[in-house]
Amino acid sequence: MSSNAEDMMELHWLFDMLQHIDVGLVVLNEKYEIKLWNSFMENHSGVSSSIAKEQSLFSVFPDINSNWLERKLDNVIALRTSIFISWEQRPHLFPFKGYRPITGMADKMFQNVALRPITNADGSVKYVCMVIYDVTDVATNKESLSNANSKLDFLSKMDSLTHLPNRGSVDKKLTSAFEQFTRDGGSYSLVMADIDYFKKVNDQYGHPVGDLVLQEVSKVLSLSIRKTDFVGRYGGEEFIIFLPNTDAAGALFFCESVRKKVADLKIKTASVEISVTMSFGIAEVHSQCKSACNWLKVADEALYKAKENGRNQSVVASKS
Ligand code: GH3
Ligand code: MG
Ligand code: MG
Repeated sequence: MSSNAEDMMELHWLFDMLQHIDVGLVVLNEKYEIKLWNSFMENHSGVSSSIAKEQSLFSVFPDINSNWLERKLDNVIALRTSIFISWEQRPHLFPFKGYRPITGMADKMFQNVALRPITNADGSVKYVCMVIYDVTDVATNKESLSNANSKLDFLSKMDSLTHLPNRGSVDKKLTSAFEQFTRDGGSYSLVMADIDYFKKVNDQYGHPVGDLVLQEVSKVLSLSIRKTDFVGRYGGEEFIIFLPNTDAAGALFFCESVRKKVADLKIKTASVEISVTMSFGIAEVHSQCKSACNWLKVADEALYKAKENGRNQSVVASKS
């Protein structure tokens, strides 16, 4: 065989392989008309090469953001440089169906796309080659890992029984609220709230009923606060509430309203209907508070007074 014939054969093989490679190959001219469309593109788009050829890419895929892609393609030609579009930047360029029937995670194929200038023999650049990689596996793995991480992060901050922020989150909030106060001043109230005689509920009706009471009371608390407020479970039957832009008088008004709502609550179980009451200790932050810990202690002392005075009441800590 002559070397010319060998070259032809090699070219034929190469062309055949590129036709059937598991990567999308498209060649566009300066008017964005399709000059080459391999079988990957045919299979995933449902548009045959004979139909795609000579049409503008944007008439075959009207949903592609043409302003954005035209600018990129023009740059590839003008600057003779390659451009890479990652799935993280833009999940897909071509709206191809994803094939993940089991996980059902990706209904669209995630793609990395390389745009490369094609240099003619005379050195001019009039065509761009688009190489489209299916990276759905990588993307879905990364997505499910990041979903799992956010879920873990969320769970680590939440109390599983009441679905309120847990002790760790309360401590963080306390520190940041105190820092905000020392930096910017303003009025900020901290409330420590505790269910009265809760041990009796457990003793009389059992622990699962006690759990139900905790859940119902938590619902009342979280439904009573404003968007900017915060409520968390500090431990057992103790809750912490932060009220920004609220002085002691405002906090007392809030606590009294919540106290009445809790007292009016009828918690139904299969056999009984239970009512509980709550006591509230209120501490407005002021310059004598030396630390977040100290602020919490002041609220705790006010709560202790509310218990001592007979429970089912709110007590504001004195400023001294
Ligand atoms: P006081 O009015 O002085 O607050 O009395 P109390 O009985 O509410 O307070 P005490 O601290 O003596 O009892 C709290 C009880 O809360 C004891 C503990 O077993 C119970 N407890 C703590 N965490 C949970 C929980 O997650 N579920 C249930 N069911 N009970 C809990
Ligand atoms: Mg209690
Ligand atoms: Mg307690």
